[in-house]
Amino acid sequence: MPMVFCRGCGKEIHDTAPFCPQCGATQAQVDINASGSPTWLAISSIVLAILAAICAVQVNSFDKDQIVGGISISIIALVAGAINLQQKKPGKGMSVTAVIMAAVSFLIFIGT
Ligand SMILES: [Zn+2]
Repeated sequence: MPMVFCRGCGKEIHDTAPFCPQCGATQAQVDINASGSPTWLAISSIVLAILAAICAVQVNSFDKDQIVGGISISIIALVAGAINLQQKKPGKGMSVTAVIMAAVSFLIFIGT
């Protein structure tokens, strides 16, 4: 049975307990954090990924510099999304979407 230490009194309690049975202190739940409001990192990754996707759609009318710009945006979106996922911050769904979208856009730019 996985146990954690209470944030209030330091006693060992079950890791799924919403509050401490000893002192009543509420315990931070990973699941609650994960479904909280997305971080700026998740938001910027999705915004950049959308931007990269829009550029990728129009890639045929782009010159070399614009393609390089598109590649840069998709890489930044990919990295931002990956960092957010790695840190297990809120906005997981957003980050996954951003990473996939950025990766697809990146491949489109590279393939052009
Ligand atoms: Zn306690």
